[in-house]
Amino acid sequence: MSSDAAQRLAFVQSHLQVAACANKEEPKKKTPVESMSEEREKATFDVRELTYFLDGGEKFTQIREKFMMELERDPTFRMYDMYDVTKDQIRERTMEKFRTIVHYVSAEPVPIFTMRMQTISLIDPGFWTRFGVHYGLFFGALRGSATSAQFSHWVSKGALALNGMVGCFAMTELGHGSNVAGLETTATFDEASDQFIIHTPTITATKWWIGGAAHTATHTVVFAQLIVRGKRYGTKSFVVQLRDTRTYTLMPGINIGDIGKKMGRDGIDNGWIQFTNVRIPRTNMLMKHTKVSRAGEVKEPPMAQLTYGALIQGRVAMVVDSGNIAKKAVTIAGRYAAVRRQFQSSPHVFRRPS
Ligand SMILES: Cc1cc2nc3c(=O)[nH]c(=O)nc-3n(C[C@H](O)[C@H](O)[C@H](O)COP(=O)(O)OP(=O)(O)OC[C@H]3O[C@@H](n4cnc5c(N)ncnc54)[C@H](O)[C@@H]3O)c2cc1C
Repeated sequence: MSSDAAQRLAFVQSHLQVAACANKEEPKKKTPVESMSEEREKATFDVRELTYFLDGGEKFTQIREKFMMELERDPTFRMYDMYDVTKDQIRERTMEKFRTIVHYVSAEPVPIFTMRMQTISLIDPGFWTRFGVHYGLFFGALRGSATSAQFSHWVSKGALALNGMVGCFAMTELGHGSNVAGLETTATFDEASDQFIIHTPTITATKWWIGGAAHTATHTVVFAQLIVRGKRYGTKSFVVQLRDTRTYTLMPGINIGDIGKKMGRDGIDNGWIQFTNVRIPRTNMLMKHTKVSRAGEVKEPPMAQLTYGALIQGRVAMVVDSGNIAKKAVTIAGRYAAVRRQFQSSPHVFRRPS
């Protein structure tokens, strides 16, 4: 018999002895908690020190842990049944959470509130996204593109306190996502009435994917082609009311649909919007960069791209959030690998013939 064949035979025989060996010396099974402590003790560095380093200092770790404890104890953030509830129930819960978080917006400094939201996203990314669409995109567009007088006006209307105003951000169209300069929605200045007419001229100009549009937003910042006296000036942003703030019925000329269930983040109600000759006051155009006077004079900024700034922050936030979610996934996978016990790892069982 060749030595190769002898080795294979010995290996097969070792399998046949499994039951006997396993019965002889049944190893004591470790509990998952024991396995985890054992793995943790193997660390060759100070885990706590690394945590402080990753959080930016001990103070920030303490703040993060405080947020985590608050969320664990807050029943509005319960997630244990999230796979049993419907899309509509998840969306309702999202709006309940708004109430619990709103007061922190003005009570906490921005970096601390940002940390709170990053912690929340680890628990409920759908809520984080809906809240982020209002504060990051809608409110961010007001902050970045409104004059200071316009900004104060929208804050007084409830944009900061979410008092009678919940925002969304209507930039993307069915036919145009990356190409913001090529958007088709129009905003035509009507000098006689001192108004803009917001209009969706084609199917591909339908605003698409708009987070919060399907049910929850009362207002939106719309990106549209500015047209004054027949001349096009490129894509600018305009505040448009979508729904009655009390009854939530659609305003005249607004047509909205629900994009429906997604692969994740169902807490946010993404929808589509069509505008049919919707009239808004001229002053609803956000005029920090480009200005249109009562007489129809257009003053343009040195850099037209400034208009698109609002989404940059949103996109950066999505990348940071993806990083945090990936950290959570790696942590779960690492812990699972440390405690998962399957088959036998006794040398009797998997002994290879030498
Ligand atoms: C869940 C979800 C929520 C969203 N919420 C909102 C919202 O609230 N408001 C809103 O306005 N939008 C929203 N969007 C839309 C989002 O901003 C767009 O999906 C994004 O801007 C990309 O546009 P697009 O999907 O049309 O892709 P496209 O523009 O068609 O791009 C498709 C691919 O081609 C690449 N590409 C595009 N142009 C070029 C080029 N010139 N050269 C090389 N590569 C190119 C892109 O990088 C991409 O990989 C949402 C999208 C999703 C999926």
